[in-house]
Amino acid sequence: MGFQKPTGTQDLLPGVVERWQFIEEKARDLCRRFNYREIRTPIFEQTSLFERGVGETTDIVEKEMYTFLDKGERSMTLRPEGTAGVVRSYVENKLYGEPDVSKLYYIGPMFRYERPQAGRQRQFHQFGIEAIGAIDPAIDAEVISLGYELCKELGLHGVTVEVNSVGNPQSRADYREKLLAFLTPMKDSLCKDCQSRMERNPMRVLDCKVDQDKFTGAPSILDSLDEESLTHFEQVKSYLTDMNVDYTINHRLVRGLDYYTLTAFEYKAQGIGAIDTVGGGGRYNKLVAEVGGPDQPGVGLAIGLERIHLILENQNIEVQGYRPLDVYLVGLGEAADKEITKQLFKLRKAGISAERDYLGRKMKAQLKSADRMQARYTAILGDDELARGEIAVKLMETGEQRTVKLEDLAAELK
Ligand code: ATP
Ligand code: MG
Repeated sequence: MGFQKPTGTQDLLPGVVERWQFIEEKARDLCRRFNYREIRTPIFEQTSLFERGVGETTDIVEKEMYTFLDKGERSMTLRPEGTAGVVRSYVENKLYGEPDVSKLYYIGPMFRYERPQAGRQRQFHQFGIEAIGAIDPAIDAEVISLGYELCKELGLHGVTVEVNSVGNPQSRADYREKLLAFLTPMKDSLCKDCQSRMERNPMRVLDCKVDQDKFTGAPSILDSLDEESLTHFEQVKSYLTDMNVDYTINHRLVRGLDYYTLTAFEYKAQGIGAIDTVGGGGRYNKLVAEVGGPDQPGVGLAIGLERIHLILENQNIEVQGYRPLDVYLVGLGEAADKEITKQLFKLRKAGISAERDYLGRKMKAQLKSADRMQARYTAILGDDELARGEIAVKLMETGEQRTVKLEDLAAELK
């Protein structure tokens, strides 16, 4: 009996992994252009960080966390998302003491105990950014536009951003009353989670996957926004318009926890049926303080990479895959074989991707191998060439063949 990977996880094999690298490189390059710098935090943290930083009435904390006791009887959790760890690190490392806004990004695995299906796994990957230390609506717009641009540059079709404002805590107190008045008459028809959340945190109810359809007539939080919240929202939208970001307003898009404030948004793309959300984010002006730091505002986004792959696939978008080998070296005879090994290393040092045979195969089998690796050139070294200090180089595409000096091989191939 062999072993199998855990349910809800994936092996990313060569052939597929290159597409992952391509998307990651795109994300990193965008971050460079937008001046976000990478942060790498642990894959597990104290459980209480997520209880605080994600929120006790969320699906994540209520049902989805991979929590375990370590050998010291401490409760630890595999990170279900990236923001809590980044904010913890921001506080612990006193990044708030730096003069500029902390603009950070991460790419890595996240863990949630969910029922696996297309685009939903137990180990999945997120790309995310956090901008901590500024309340300027221009930075909300910057964060939104970065995620939008990633989708665009990857070539996804039908990308839109849904935006909303959940206001500041004062606006929300007003909305809470109106929402409760709307929900109370239908309470008995709602799912168990909704019923319990109604008491603890009514805004979370709007997020329910089961009862979604019942809330089309819910009051809009936008009608409860105070002056300050409204102005911020108007400015974010105006920047998005300036940047040609395609957005719509969805007043039922909520992040119902007290530390989420003002801007909330989600990216949608065409063509993954029921699962059309690529990612989302929002402003969290109370979160840094919630996890023990100073009162610093933040805004961020997280994009699911499995979702991006799924959409690319569904929309038949080709992304850069395996990069063909530059040259495959064949040595005929013992002395030539030895020389090949030396040349191989020289080429690789010079930045050329190069390969040889390690299985003692005949020349014909070696050339087939070169074909499979899509080698641009093959270079064949026999005893005669070796004696003259030369090697025969063939451009595979045209069959054109040339003899070059061994010491010039790297330069010639370049
Ligand atoms: P959903 O409504 O799909 O469960 P969510 O609200 O739980 O999403 P967030 O916590 O906002 O999602 O995470 C941001 C993004 O991370 C999602 O939009 C999605 O692309 C991705 N994501 C979340 N959970 C998973 C998962 N289990 N498998 C794969 N991707 C995921
Ligand atoms: Mg979820």
